Amino acid sequence: MAERGLLIVLSGPSGVGKGTVREAIFKDPETKFEYSISMTTRKPREGEKEGVDYYFRNHEQFEAAIKEGRMLEYAEYVGNYYGTPLDYVEEKLASGVDIFLEIEIKGAMKVKERMPEGIFIFLTPPDLAELKNRLIGRGTEPLEVINERMKTARAEIEMMASYDYAVVNDVVSEAVRKIKGIVETEHLKTERILHRYQNMLEGF
Ligand code: 5GP
Repeated sequence: MAERGLLIVLSGPSGVGKGTVREAIFKDPETKFEYSISMTTRKPREGEKEGVDYYFRNHEQFEAAIKEGRMLEYAEYVGNYYGTPLDYVEEKLASGVDIFLEIEIKGAMKVKERMPEGIFIFLTPPDLAELKNRLIGRGTEPLEVINERMKTARAEIEMMASYDYAVVNDVVSEAVRKIKGIVETEHLKTERILHRYQNMLEGF
């Protein structure tokens, strides 16, 4: 029987660049894990393709999938549903393939409840002062809005404690290298390797 694949979950605050990092990971032909394509009710953006970027569905279809237990997790984000179809993830993990999810924080926490054995990676912004300066510098937002944004940023950063790893998204290629390093290291954990040797010993 194939060894179960690893479930890798990349998440982090909105605007931190999760999508960019994910794209860079999968542009690399050396990448060995597979991306789980999400389902969403948001409309496709220019250039996005059905079944490549997302499975684009309407509200009724999405809610039917929830009701029928076909979602590993889902969340509402800016007025739309986003979620991870369960079957694909289950089948791939069972056949030994590592699966990569790139999802927002609420969904990641639901995955953690259902599959705590996953590897949870938090992508962080390099600098919060930078975020504040950017908001103030723009000069378009009133102070209350800036404070609200900073409060959200604080709450999101505090979420880091629920993750196994934190990767700063400063230089994208560096973030990609670190994420791949994490996956490689996870595969080298004795708990994943020991039983193979125990099986070999049985044949002695
Ligand atoms: P966008 O509309 O820019 O493609 O994505 C908006 C947000 O939804 C991003 O933070 C992205 O990580 C998140 N997202 C994409 N797919 C999923 C999913 O399957 N589940 C959850 N919970 N969030 C998702």
